[in-house]
Amino acid sequence: MTVLDGEPGAVHGRVAPQALNDAMARAWETISERPLFTDPYARLFVNAAGPHELPATPEHQRSLIDSAAARTKWFDDYFLTSSSSGVSQVVILAAGLDARPWRLPWLSDTVIYEVDQPEVLEFKQRILAESGVSAAAKYVPVPVDLRDDWPKALTANGFDHTEPTAWAAEGLLPFLTDETQEQLLERIELYSARGSRIAVEVRGDAYSDLSCWLCTRHWEVSSTSAADLMSRYHRTATPGIDEPVAHSVFVDGRKL
Ligand code: SAM
Repeated sequence: MTVLDGEPGAVHGRVAPQALNDAMARAWETISERPLFTDPYARLFVNAAGPHELPATPEHQRSLIDSAAARTKWFDDYFLTSSSSGVSQVVILAAGLDARPWRLPWLSDTVIYEVDQPEVLEFKQRILAESGVSAAAKYVPVPVDLRDDWPKALTANGFDHTEPTAWAAEGLLPFLTDETQEQLLERIELYSARGSRIAVEVRGDAYSDLSCWLCTRHWEVSSTSAADLMSRYHRTATPGIDEPVAHSVFVDGRKL
C-alpha cells in the first residue's frame, strides 16, 4: 500500500511521517466501500509527498486504517457538536495533514487556528493552494513547536482567550514528554474561557488521571474507548495486531 497516484513530490522526508501515515489512512478510508467520512485532500498530500508506505503487513495496515478512521470520525463529530453549540473559535493542536478547516461544514464566523511544525503547515497550505480549494472558515496557521511558548504565538495571531474555544489534541500526546503534556494541559486550562470544549486522545492507562484533572478544574468530562468506537462504527480489531491507538481513550469535556 503506497502512493495512490501521481509523481513523487519534492517534500519527501520533510513532513512528519506520522502525519503522512494518518493522511494515507484517511485517503484509503475515503475510497473504501462504506467510509465513515470523506477527506478528498488526504490523497493530494500523500501523492505530493512521494513514496511513502504504511508500515507492516496488510493486516496491520487494515488495522491502522480502521483505527485512524474511527478516531477521525470521533473528532469530526466533536467539532460539529462544538460548532452547533455556538463555539466559533477552534484550536487544533498538532493538526498534521488533517484538512478539517477545508472539509467540515463550519459556520461562517468560525476561526480555526492550526498549530504544528512549520514544515507540516507549509506543505499542507501549499498543496491546498495549488489545488485552488478554500477553507470553509477563517483559517489561521500557527507554526510553532508545542514545547515552546505556543499560547504567545496563538495570541499574536489573533486568538482571544476570553472567548470559548474548542481545543483538540489528536494523536499528539505520545510525541510529548510527561512534563510537556502537563504543561500543554495547564496552558489549555489557563486559556479556556467558560463554555470551552476539549477533545484529547490519551493512553488508556492515563485517561482517568486526565478526567480527574479536568473535573477538579470544573470541566464536565466524558470518555469513549477506542474499542467502543471501533464497535460503534462496525470495525473489528484485527486479531493478533496490537495497535497502540487500539488502547487509546478519547476524552471530551466542557468547561462549566
Ligand atoms: N492530528 C493529526 C492527525 O490525526 O492526522 C496529526 C497526527 S500526527 C500522528 C502527529 C503530529 O504532531 C504531526 O503533525 C507532528 O508534526 C505534530 N507534532 C509532534 N510533536 C510536535 C511538537 N513538539 N510541536 C508541534 N507539532 C508536533
